[in-house]
Amino acid sequence: MTGFRVGTGFDVHRLVPGRPCVLGGIELPHPAGPDGHSDGDAVLHAVTDALLGAAGMDDIGTLFPPDDERWRDADSGELLGMALEVVRNAGWRVVNVDVVVATEGPRIAPHRSAMRTRMAQLLRVGPERVNVKGKTLEGMGALAGGAGVAVQAVCLLAER
Ligand code: MG
Repeated sequence: MTGFRVGTGFDVHRLVPGRPCVLGGIELPHPAGPDGHSDGDAVLHAVTDALLGAAGMDDIGTLFPPDDERWRDADSGELLGMALEVVRNAGWRVVNVDVVVATEGPRIAPHRSAMRTRMAQLLRVGPERVNVKGKTLEGMGALAGGAGVAVQAVCLLAER
């Protein structure tokens, strides 16, 4: 019988004027982007953590420490690719990934398809195995008004 593992990931980044708005592996047309040591792609960070979590492998901060100069302005797609290699080498494959992006910054809906395509490439699965949806925050809390982005991701792995 095939073994399965599920993992969740969560990430929050401030949206800062003048930073490229890289989310889900693509650049969105928006005047503010996620702050961070890497490119700040909170979507890929949450997905990476879901992947590592499912495989029982610590988290993205352990694999790629934020105080390590190697990861300054790193492409989060490359970090996800490296995490995927580690997970695959441990005998797992990605069944599917589902993501919620909560923000009042960039609109997510017009870019869902491009995000799914890009993340599916990075995860080496078909786009039907990657889902993304946007949520607003109803004007509540510290992330209201486009101040930040919060991302929740879930990933299912199966034995290869
Ligand atoms: Mg992050």
